[in-house]
Amino acid sequence: MDALLTDLRACRLCADRFAATETAHAPRPVAWVGGSARILVAGQAPGLRVHQSGKPFTDPSGDRLREWMGVDEATFYDTRRIAILPMAFCFPGYDAKGSDLPPPPVCARTWRARLLDALGDVKLTLLIGAYAQRWHLGSRRGVTETVANWREHAPATFVLPHPSWRNTAWIRKNPWFAEEVLPALRRRVKEVLDG
Ligand code: SF4
Repeated sequence: MDALLTDLRACRLCADRFAATETAHAPRPVAWVGGSARILVAGQAPGLRVHQSGKPFTDPSGDRLREWMGVDEATFYDTRRIAILPMAFCFPGYDAKGSDLPPPPVCARTWRARLLDALGDVKLTLLIGAYAQRWHLGSRRGVTETVANWREHAPATFVLPHPSWRNTAWIRKNPWFAEEVLPALRRRVKEVLDG
């Protein structure tokens, strides 16, 4: 795992792509992982704040995700227990309208299978958002339909919307998510962490 992480952190495959975005930034791969982690958090890609901090989920989305999981920051960032491997490891940049660009597919193609192999015995995977759900489940369903059918994948995998403020309206509109999915998720996270 250490050698793989050294290679990943040196990756510059998307340098030209990022230089052509509105933010014209350089690649900065952010991976948070240790070989013994039993929980995998599979998100989308770092945002600008994470690109600057070099640490995943150091933003309001991270606060909400930790609340959903029922874990504190010390547990969330303990790489021996939780691995955070998004579908792309670098901030993809903004488009002309200021929206996040999608994760470059070359990232998952290049790194994902090797990292998951090195991770080994994962007991719980959190698939956050459409990109992670499509890659891991091979499904073309939308996020709402996938999350509504969360029991098909639990308890080994929990499918979640992105915890971004942009999804606050979605969370209000779908109260079953907070009432049914989150308590089950918290129970499973605790079980795996305590196991
Ligand atoms: S997004 Fe992935 S493939 Fe692209 S430069 Fe970053 S680590 Fe490399």
